[in-house]
Amino acid sequence: MITDDQIFATLADVFGFHSFKSHQEEIVRTILSGRDVFAVMPTGGGKSLCYQLPALLLDGVCVVVSPLISLMKDQVDAARANGINAATLNSSITPSERNNITAALCSGGIKLLYISPERFNSEFFLDILKSIKISFFAIDEAHCISEWGHDFRRDYLELSKIVTGFPDIHIAAFTATATSRVANDITVRLKLRNPHLTRASFDRPNLFYRVVVKQNIEDQLYNFVLRHKDEAGIIYRISRKKVEQTAMILQSHGIDARAYHAGMSDSDRHAAQEAFSRDKCSVIVATIAFGMGIDKSNVRYVVHGDLPKNIEGYYQETGRAGRDGTPAECVLFYDQQDIMILSKFADNIEDPAARDTARTQFFQMRNFAERDACRRTAILRYFGETYPKTNCGGCDFCLGDIEREDATINAQKVLSAIYRTGERFGAVHICDIVTGANTEKIRDFNHNTLPTYGVGKDQPKQYWRSLINALLAKQILTIDDPKLPTLKLTDDARKILRGQLEFQLQTQKKQPSRAVNRYSDGITREFDERLFQLLRGIRTKIAIAENIPPFVVFSDKPLIEMSTFFPQNETEFVKISGVGHTKFERYGEQFIGEIKRYCQENQIQSKQNYSPVKTEPARTGSSGISATHLLTKQFLEQGMSIEEIAKERQITSGTIVAHLEKLAENGYKLPLERFIKPNRLEQVKKWFETSGVTAESDWRLKPAVEISEGKLDYDEARLARMVLKYGNNS
Ligand code: ADP
Ligand code: MG
Repeated sequence: MITDDQIFATLADVFGFHSFKSHQEEIVRTILSGRDVFAVMPTGGGKSLCYQLPALLLDGVCVVVSPLISLMKDQVDAARANGINAATLNSSITPSERNNITAALCSGGIKLLYISPERFNSEFFLDILKSIKISFFAIDEAHCISEWGHDFRRDYLELSKIVTGFPDIHIAAFTATATSRVANDITVRLKLRNPHLTRASFDRPNLFYRVVVKQNIEDQLYNFVLRHKDEAGIIYRISRKKVEQTAMILQSHGIDARAYHAGMSDSDRHAAQEAFSRDKCSVIVATIAFGMGIDKSNVRYVVHGDLPKNIEGYYQETGRAGRDGTPAECVLFYDQQDIMILSKFADNIEDPAARDTARTQFFQMRNFAERDACRRTAILRYFGETYPKTNCGGCDFCLGDIEREDATINAQKVLSAIYRTGERFGAVHICDIVTGANTEKIRDFNHNTLPTYGVGKDQPKQYWRSLINALLAKQILTIDDPKLPTLKLTDDARKILRGQLEFQLQTQKKQPSRAVNRYSDGITREFDERLFQLLRGIRTKIAIAENIPPFVVFSDKPLIEMSTFFPQNETEFVKISGVGHTKFERYGEQFIGEIKRYCQENQIQSKQNYSPVKTEPARTGSSGISATHLLTKQFLEQGMSIEEIAKERQITSGTIVAHLEKLAENGYKLPLERFIKPNRLEQVKKWFETSGVTAESDWRLKPAVEISEGKLDYDEARLARMVLKYGNNS
């Protein structure tokens, strides 16, 4: 049986992590227990570890299905950098490489085998799989199997052969997108057997969301990139033409930006992606064709230069920022023209059902952009979650960057001009009337005799234009026919004219606040920027020498930690998150050398206190009891329930139960009777006993859980076992 120590030791030694991210532990344990898994976790949630860790602990090879060759290559590189024996079988490898891999597979030398889905077409390949010991199948990007998802791939349908061809082997499926329709499709098509379902929160605390109205979009994009000069980022644009235009403009300013869209040749696209992934260019300007193959963890911003078609896509795209859990910014630019274009696009769809879907999606997207409340709350609500806080602290709205001013009188001026001209004119002419312009049209219609003529001279035309846009956005004005954009009044408009309704204009602060530097655990950190840049330099050098992407050497997060704590020897260095033993051996010397030199020059001491980063020590002292266990005990004594402690500490109830067990084993007195009712305890005891073992000390969880036929889960079993074992002496 695999012990907790093995799990945590592997987590620390191989991956260099000292705690699980949310839901990882539960998934790892379920895979180890031999059950199908279906996990929906956001991008950057740490799905790879969920299958890589059990793959190392179980006998045999874990077969990972992944949709893109470029992605597989990066994942194999990343696994190897951690000292894991990983290989890939796809169309890009030569026959002799294939023979070598097949031989290694048969001799049991490989723990992770990445394959593309179409392999399941080949009898030859299936025969190879049948001749080796497989620990389990992991299906990455599982939504590709659904036609309702946005990345449907016909080849994924082949995966239904897994269950028929390998009925005894379990499947773990992972995706970052799954509406309930897609989720259902995945379960049915993969034929998952009573899978353990996990749906992690889609909240990404380290992402900052901002929405800005377009003025001069190319200038706005350039200025943004300029402010983020040394950082990697993605700019999405709606069309190929705009992609090329933006890329060209940025290049003309001396920024190494590359274009990426489906109209380019495969090799050009590949070159652009490779350059981005290897930090050779900092900005990629792309259509939504760019994305899925990107595991690059240090993308610091994702900018949308136009309003996206739906929130699902917007969220996937922004999700590519800040995978490493360090702060990243997502900015969306839009204007009323974007809104018109998308609205027209939806209206022109012929199929009525598809048209309705597109319209709904458009309305949701528009509401998001024009919203005057927390953005995060809106995104999470879209995914069916309720965000608990009133201020998320991580969006333009919650930071107070959106100001409101009373604009009732100015709105009345505009509305009155529209009313008096019979609702027959567009925005340009109305602005001309209000600002008192002397145009031919004004003279022709005698509009210079209107009482509203020139009443808004005190403000520039642009102000009146944005006021009209805001009135449109709030549906106080409407445009019935996009081909003939004349402004019409609604009931609310009439109320404003009569003074029965106020109107507030939303504006963006001239000097928006800086996006807060918040990490995925919600903590803000200060680090030494200069050292960080030096360490990045070393990372690039190593990456070039080894021909791997820099983020495979280390993502930004470990480098930031190094620039926070200045580790100068092995003991200190391996405490950095992401430093496993292989990476320490390979790269430790170079990084420690640089840190030492820097610290000597600047008279800096290493900081011993790693606590903001390390919440869960991986391994405990000789008694087995460490601060983390004692903290659990303390909360318990304050009267908190296991669930409450888990929530407070952001770890699973399972871990809390494991803590309690450890404490009980070490003779700590706990209010055990609180955890489980006496008659339930009797029932669980029976399950333990019917599993064939009578001595309490030998009770194992798995047989009892299995005998209960779904009525008992591991946590409760463990809790009951603990109460039964230690109940008397508490
Ligand atoms: P996903 O596939 O869900 O988008 P990845 O598997 O690529 O996410 O992981 C995202 C990032 O999180 C990677 O940089 C990875 O190293 C990091 N990560 C994964 N698990 C942990 C952990 N337990 N502690 C700290 N970082 C982690
Ligand atoms: Mg992934």
